[in-house]
Amino acid sequence: MLVKSDKNEILSYLSDAANFRGNAEKVYVPEKIEEVSRILQECFEAGTPVHISGMGTGLTGGRVPAGGVIVSTEKLNRIIEINKTEKFAIVESGVILEDFHKELKDQNLYYPPDPTEQCSSIGGNISNNASGAKTFKFGPTRDYVLALEVSLADGETVHLTRGEVFEKDGFIDFKSKNGRAYHIPVEPVNMPTTKNAAGYYMRKGMDAVDLFIGSEGTLGIILQAKLKLLPLPEDFLSMLLFFEDENVALKFVAELRDSSRNKKNEYIDALAIEFFDWNSLEFLRDDFPNIPEGERTALWIEQDVSGAESDNILLAYTELLEKYGVDTEEVWFATGDKERRELIRFRHAVSQKVSDFISRNNIRKVGTDLAVPDDKFFDFYHFCKNGSEHSGLKFIVYGHFGNSHIHLNMLPSNEDEYRIAKELYRELCAEAVKAGGTISAEHGIGKIKREYLKMMYSDRDLESMKKIKAALDTKNNLSPGNIFL
Ligand SMILES: Cc1cc2nc3c(=O)[nH]c(=O)nc-3n(C[C@H](O)[C@H](O)[C@H](O)COP(=O)(O)OP(=O)(O)OC[C@H]3O[C@@H](n4cnc5c(N)ncnc54)[C@H](O)[C@@H]3O)c2cc1C
Repeated sequence: MLVKSDKNEILSYLSDAANFRGNAEKVYVPEKIEEVSRILQECFEAGTPVHISGMGTGLTGGRVPAGGVIVSTEKLNRIIEINKTEKFAIVESGVILEDFHKELKDQNLYYPPDPTEQCSSIGGNISNNASGAKTFKFGPTRDYVLALEVSLADGETVHLTRGEVFEKDGFIDFKSKNGRAYHIPVEPVNMPTTKNAAGYYMRKGMDAVDLFIGSEGTLGIILQAKLKLLPLPEDFLSMLLFFEDENVALKFVAELRDSSRNKKNEYIDALAIEFFDWNSLEFLRDDFPNIPEGERTALWIEQDVSGAESDNILLAYTELLEKYGVDTEEVWFATGDKERRELIRFRHAVSQKVSDFISRNNIRKVGTDLAVPDDKFFDFYHFCKNGSEHSGLKFIVYGHFGNSHIHLNMLPSNEDEYRIAKELYRELCAEAVKAGGTISAEHGIGKIKREYLKMMYSDRDLESMKKIKAALDTKNNLSPGNIFL
């Protein structure tokens, strides 16, 4: 096992994609999962705080410590099994999503969770319940986790299989591989019905596996996961549409979403509906000079397609495009893998350019990860947009609009603007919660969003979450400072 303590060598572990910074004494890079338990046991006995690093693409400071040590999963990157017959894979937590997707494609299999940042690790995805464009049709990471092997704060390892251990009479009970018993109090909390990555998952009768998904490294280090797979769709229809009028684009989103969810047209069943506002297009123009002039909004739409239906699907979309006056000459249709990758690059570029912009200008981005119930979404979008326009801040909006999920990124250039952005951010969170939504649909709380969690949950709910943490990590050793203030 590699142990790094040289300041320059560990520098890259001391921040994440949010440009949140911290410090640590050393970084352990285990190569075998057994080594993780030993590190945790030693740290637990010595009272040394441990943070967990995946690929550092997180946007909330979750992997960034304020002292103590870091365990990096980068070398725990083996794909242990891909079972074509039963359609599952067993992977170590450091496997990079992009590598996993490639490996599966070669075997005609499919793992739908696809956060835009494909360089993230499976462990990071599970611990944040990551989601992405395809979540619209296929759901978030949680829906694909069949079993987990987790190293707990005290160094004990537990293997949990979905469908075996449930909350009963207010507790989840399980034993570690060495037979140590854990008795965890679980009081159900009121969770939003939207996509959600804020706080622990706590429901009556819940599965123990769900407790660890989205727990942001606070309850254990995920070592291995068994993941559900689907057959690889025969093909994908992928297209980027441009609209002169943003309101028309929003109406298009509403109709496509409704059609897909409620099967109103047998050939329309989108898997992704992604939105880009005018400022996003301006941000992207240097990299994509062929963005048509004068267009103010873009939507990226995908649908899985089987050969036999492809003509009918294309026809159904063409009719829909015509109904909304979309100039089909300007639509970027992806007809093969290469063109599809270009559209995926377009989607990735917008978030990446924001991350690069904040690093280059050394500013602190104030970015929302808010989702609200579908019936509240368009009012909510206008509320966000009006607030941003009135603030005078530079901002850009994109997001997973199929899931009523908005990334509004405010880009303050000085301290005064930063203060204004934070005030607006708080207002937007309050409005999302009022609408029955979440302050974090996919990025988690980490250290950056902790103060807003109490807008969503009552003191009692937060105390219940802390009781879970205390039952599994009696010394508050694992990722201290994540989720809770
Ligand atoms: C350009 C860009 C686009 C993005 N788009 C999306 C998106 O569409 N959807 C989305 O959900 N996210 C998105 N993200 C955020 C990020 O990619 C995800 O949160 C991702 O899941 C983080 O994975 P990671 O391996 O980089 O984790 P890290 O950043 O290293 O860590 C994130 C958190 O997970 C914990 N963690 C990591 N590994 C483990 C483990 N094995 N066991 C326990 N805890 C662990 C860490 O301690 C930390 O709290 C984006 C980020 C960027 C920069």
